[in-house]
Amino acid sequence: MDNLTNYHSHCDFCDGKAPMEDFFREAVEEHFTAFGITSHSPVPIKSTSNMKRENMNAYLTEFGRIKKEYGNRLECFSGLEIDYLSRFFGPSTSYFQELPLDFRIGSIHFLPDHTGHIRDIDLKPDEFAATVKEYFNGDAEGIVKLYADQVISMVDAGGIDFVGHCDKISYSASFMIPGLFDTGWFNDLMENFFGEIAKSGIMLEVNTKHFSGWGTFFPNERWFPLMKSLGIKIVVNSDAHEPGLINSGRPEAIEALKKAGYDTVMELHRNRKQGRQKSPGTTVPELQSGKGDSDPRPQPWQGCALTN
Ligand SMILES: [Zn+2]
Ligand SMILES: [Zn+2]
Repeated sequence: MDNLTNYHSHCDFCDGKAPMEDFFREAVEEHFTAFGITSHSPVPIKSTSNMKRENMNAYLTEFGRIKKEYGNRLECFSGLEIDYLSRFFGPSTSYFQELPLDFRIGSIHFLPDHTGHIRDIDLKPDEFAATVKEYFNGDAEGIVKLYADQVISMVDAGGIDFVGHCDKISYSASFMIPGLFDTGWFNDLMENFFGEIAKSGIMLEVNTKHFSGWGTFFPNERWFPLMKSLGIKIVVNSDAHEPGLINSGRPEAIEALKKAGYDTVMELHRNRKQGRQKSPGTTVPELQSGKGDSDPRPQPWQGCALTN
């Protein structure tokens, strides 16, 4: 299988379950061509899932060491999954933009409640329901709309390569709102949502972390044909927190994307392999040449043909 790439993973600098090196070693063993590590960004609120700001230098240093050791076996990329909290804190802020990262994911895991307190809403359905009841007046519809607004605000602010698990809240909310996916307001909301994403030109990931357990991707497969018709470009990621899960759900997502009419996914590479197909209409930049070829900067994201 080709398209063995993953640009969303968490090691023990945040809430991942293993050292960073274990993920890159596993990626080599599974014949991945490119792999990106993306710890949860520091945030100015209490969070046990996010990395501490004072560990950022160690994170980047450890990545540099690993890239030296593994960089001749697979393309290694450094990223962050950056929380958007408000227009005052998110991926577009100078701190994140100035970090020497290869790419940035923008994700929503926190939302402000009606008092302005930031609450963790990236929870299992039962914990999510308890949080909505306690801090959001039990208004599941309102929180779904707020989440969509926050994603759009994050996209408008810019500074990201792609949006992480862009509709994850729908899954949790569907346990509180029977028949959510068939309601008119929800479908109108999501059609407008994907329209805004398409206008921005920012990519979406198809996040496969929970496919094996919950049977759904984020975004849900039901939206793939709409995303395709709007020209939204896709990165397929496992959001692995354990090395053994780096490819979990990815082959199934690629099959589902093909069924919806996608023939390419977006990939980040330093050295494009000879003979790989490019997608129709995609400009493949020339290879970097001359000095520095041992560590060329990543080329722009490119559409790569789905081959498996
Ligand atoms: Zn996330
Ligand atoms: Zn993640």
